[in-house]
Amino acid sequence: MTAVKSLGTHPLLDKILSIVGEDRVNDNPVIISSYTKDASHLTAERPGIIVMPESVEEVQAIVKLCAETKTPLVAAGGRNGICGACLPRRKGTVMLDMVKMDKIVILDEDVMTVTVEAGLRWAELIHRLDDKGYKLGFRGPYGGNVGTVGGSTSINSIGYAASKYGPSPESTVSLEVVLANGDVLQTGTGWNPDAQIFGRYSTYNDLTGIFLGDQGTLGVKTKVTLKIYPKAEFITYGDFGFKTLEAATAAFLRVQKRGLTEELNLLADRQSTDTFFPGFLDNHKEIHAMFASIVQETDEQLANRKMEIVREIALEHGGKDLGNFASQMHWGELFNLVQPLYNNGFWLNTCHLRPITRIPDIMKRAWEIFKKYELLDNGIKWIASCLGAERAYATGWITLFPPSQDKMELAETAWNELLDAILDTGGCPYWNGLLWENRTLPITNKEFLETYWKIKKALDPDGIFAPGTFRGFE
Ligand SMILES: Cc1cc2nc3c(=O)[nH]c(=O)nc-3n(C[C@H](O)[C@H](O)[C@H](O)COP(=O)(O)OP(=O)(O)OC[C@H]3O[C@@H](n4cnc5c(N)ncnc54)[C@H](O)[C@@H]3O)c2cc1C
Repeated sequence: MTAVKSLGTHPLLDKILSIVGEDRVNDNPVIISSYTKDASHLTAERPGIIVMPESVEEVQAIVKLCAETKTPLVAAGGRNGICGACLPRRKGTVMLDMVKMDKIVILDEDVMTVTVEAGLRWAELIHRLDDKGYKLGFRGPYGGNVGTVGGSTSINSIGYAASKYGPSPESTVSLEVVLANGDVLQTGTGWNPDAQIFGRYSTYNDLTGIFLGDQGTLGVKTKVTLKIYPKAEFITYGDFGFKTLEAATAAFLRVQKRGLTEELNLLADRQSTDTFFPGFLDNHKEIHAMFASIVQETDEQLANRKMEIVREIALEHGGKDLGNFASQMHWGELFNLVQPLYNNGFWLNTCHLRPITRIPDIMKRAWEIFKKYELLDNGIKWIASCLGAERAYATGWITLFPPSQDKMELAETAWNELLDAILDTGGCPYWNGLLWENRTLPITNKEFLETYWKIKKALDPDGIFAPGTFRGFE
């Protein structure tokens, strides 16, 4: 950061300099510009100053300073979110860039947990655990080359291996959180200073949960403890095509309910498969929808047998065995899988959760919208993909790709209708942020929001953390 000098304009600059030194703080407009967006097209206020803490003590000191001066503070991870969650809503905000807090603190093989600093990126964590013979449960969002553990757990991310292990919060055992008064809270079995961090639920109620998915509004996560499992070397793959989405969904639900796969991905129509894997269905004219399934086990026979069962279920629903190109590509590319999709244009995403049984409901509405706005004739492609989440729900990952700026207005009109349709058909976005708040806050159960605001006021009386987020009751 020293290459571009600070302008010295932020009122807290000198005090922050005294906490972290010169190299990890800046309020120069050029630096600030690079912090004004996440991976979406949404915009909010520019941060007032950027600080890169390296320790919990530095985070504590900065939080205390912000509380004393009632200065807004936003924690950012990889800024790889696609809903604008990490963008400040208030001028002069202190933005904590957490990515220098990226150490593995303890790999506790006795209790099968790993404790990491919140700014560690998923890709690095996965590779380092792999070297030691372990895997995570939830393995990070598809953007895990950049996304951090702290960012994902703050935003209910869902992604790799969620079909078996559920979204990011399900794999979290415990958190270390810096509260608004500067105190450091340890949740889970960490309440006992003599205990290892082995469990989330013990002795008291679950304090981990209120910080998961909070979008940084209740505290700054400095450490996250995650579940680990023995590395599973045996992987089997299977792609299955169906004449109708209904048949594909019925088979998908049965596979998912039995918990057979590590990852189960549905592509809801031909266009989605063509956008993801061009040419894959060219020789299968009758196929409308497909799923790619990945089984991962510590035992070869078990991996083979589970894939046989997936195949049997698919065939019982009229499925066609398409080989294993899509599932191998999907699993093998890991976090590099989806970046190339930017070649189709900008992402207008509608990421949300829904029961698997209600996938056809949203697709019926989506196809009407795609047709009404003649998206394909305008060069706007889409991918409608559903990733199984544990038991019987899934993501609805429906993304429009406007290829150029002149198609953006049309795509946004269709996208806005799609966002409404998602909520109308019983969908629940996993993150919220600028993308969803205008739609979610007005319809959120009043008691839910009031309870959230009571907790917020108790924990953060001056409202320093991410003010303006979930603004319904401010
Ligand atoms: C190519 C691509 C693929 C993607 N695929 C997926 C996907 O499959 N699934 C998915 O869920 N998302 C996906 N995303 C979005 C993104 O990767 C995830 O949302 C990711 O979890 C964001 O992590 P981050 O560290 O970048 O968080 P940020 O965007 O920096 O922040 C997200 C939120 O967390 C808060 N926060 C961050 N760190 C802390 C902390 N230490 N303490 C308290 N609050 C904090 C921020 O204030 C903000 O509210 C994708 C994005 C791209 C560009």
